[in-house]
Amino acid sequence: MDVRRRRSPAKLPSQNNDVASSNVEVTSRKASDALPLPLYLTNTVFLALFFATVYFLLSRWREKIRNSTPLHVVDLSEISALFGFVASCIYLLGFFGVDFVQSVFFRSSSEDDVYEIDDHLVLNEDLRKKIPIPPCGQSLDCSSLPMKPNSIDPPRESDLSSEEDEEIVKSVIEGTIPSYSLETKLGDCKRAAAIRREAVQRITGKSLAGLPLEGFDYNSILGQCCEMPVGYVQIPVGIAGPLLLDGVEYSVPMATTEGCLVASTNRGCKAIHMSGGAFSVLVNDAMSRAPVVRFPSARRAALAMFYLQDPANFERLSLIFNKSSRFARLQSITCRIAGKNLYPRFSCSTGDAMGMNMVSKGVQNVLDFIKTEFSDMDVIGISGNCCSDKKAAAINWIEGRGKHVVCEATIKGEIVKNVLKTSVEALVELNVLKNLTGSAMAGSLGGFNAHASNIVSAVFIATGQDPAQNVESSHCITMIVAEGDDLHISVSMPCIEVGTVGGGTQLASQSACLNLLGVKGSSNTEEAGSNARQLARVVAGTVLAGELSLMSAIAAGQLVKSHMKYNRSSRDIGPSSQVNNR
Ligand code: ADP
Repeated sequence: MDVRRRRSPAKLPSQNNDVASSNVEVTSRKASDALPLPLYLTNTVFLALFFATVYFLLSRWREKIRNSTPLHVVDLSEISALFGFVASCIYLLGFFGVDFVQSVFFRSSSEDDVYEIDDHLVLNEDLRKKIPIPPCGQSLDCSSLPMKPNSIDPPRESDLSSEEDEEIVKSVIEGTIPSYSLETKLGDCKRAAAIRREAVQRITGKSLAGLPLEGFDYNSILGQCCEMPVGYVQIPVGIAGPLLLDGVEYSVPMATTEGCLVASTNRGCKAIHMSGGAFSVLVNDAMSRAPVVRFPSARRAALAMFYLQDPANFERLSLIFNKSSRFARLQSITCRIAGKNLYPRFSCSTGDAMGMNMVSKGVQNVLDFIKTEFSDMDVIGISGNCCSDKKAAAINWIEGRGKHVVCEATIKGEIVKNVLKTSVEALVELNVLKNLTGSAMAGSLGGFNAHASNIVSAVFIATGQDPAQNVESSHCITMIVAEGDDLHISVSMPCIEVGTVGGGTQLASQSACLNLLGVKGSSNTEEAGSNARQLARVVAGTVLAGELSLMSAIAAGQLVKSHMKYNRSSRDIGPSSQVNNR
């Protein structure tokens, strides 16, 4: 660990001459400055010196007493040992003694000193004009731009556990230790988060008191889920259900801060359950990636397209693609061409993983191979946006991406009346005018539904999915038709992108939610990917429940009323209006 207890005399950025000329020493010299070594090495050297000289001098004096030699007669080795003894005493006294005394008697004044000293580092107005100050996150990684610690508003207790941590915080603020390197340097993810958090608070002058630090396993996110953590956001998880889907009851976890959402979905689940349940079909399962490659001419690009789409080449290409993982199985390659540029869209099954990494690796394998056939091919990007990941795109809506699920239920007329408080006719009419016609009028892309993304997002967050994939995962068309006295409702969702391994699914809370649904981790069955597929069905089933309930609320004119009841707690109301309400 290359972290020192002391700061070396900090200098303002040398790229600025005005600043360089005003180098200032920001700390008074300490005993630990004696050697240009890390603190622990300096301490080790002086402790070793102390004990070695004490041992040496005592043994020599014992010898002298035995031989009746006067003690004041000393040779060169004893002079050196005495010198070493005195030096180590001074060091150890200076390091432990003085610091201890200061920490007892002068704590507050020495803390003030830190700020006084760092005030020297405050960039004056001129310097601010010359060096643009980056946003907070960047400034943590800036090695040349010292930051001014601010007083923190509101005041709060520090999460730091030692004086060494305090020094590291100062180094992070000064930019001598990059914030991103704390985990590697300290080998302790929780400590790194605490130090970074403290540095952020001092730099911004804003307290993070409401953002918890404790109670989270920071090791579990290292190198996988989140960089430079300073805490975690708590999102409440509610349970909707039981959702009776394909004869099995599911309690569906939904992480949300939108009042009514879980309650409404729960009502939909109840109506579905009382009507005999919902049924789902998974019609396709393929994650896609489409790189963009360029050729010297459109003719060459077309040649490559014919090669990639030729069924005679598929077996060879899929063998190469599938090497990316034992779970990746190439299903199709479809190409789009734009002049000299080609966008081959590779689609494959990915077992229980959502599969973006897997499919990208497979595509890279194929591109490497094709390069041998088409040496004039230039790979511009592994993703050329025809994939299309985390963006609304007609290609996803039409061809699908991830799991394509259709889910349906027939709701008895009396349940529509008694539980959903509306009528079959009203729901059918509302669906035509809102979800179909209204969305068409709005030029919607895959948005022929009432609020699929509400349910998708809440289930995604609870189960550790990538919430950004909510964009295409929420593509959904809701159909409602009358069947005699009853109502048939269905949702068709061509792009549910979910996994039960990888990404955020392995984190403790998310894993618990997957466990609740019985789809945690890798499938045990022979059939790879059945957990992820089951999760996609549950997402669609829950969307069905959400659609049924919200559409009923709108048809019955209850939407605003229920939002006022469940979405507006008195805690939202400011003091003045509370007074008025009383
Ligand atoms: P993604 O491809 O969704 O981004 P990862 O990169 O984490 O996710 O890939 C999933 C990893 O999990 C791969 O290394 C894969 O070998 C492994 N794995 C273990 N069990 C399974 C499974 N049942 N299905 C898919 N991948 C699995």
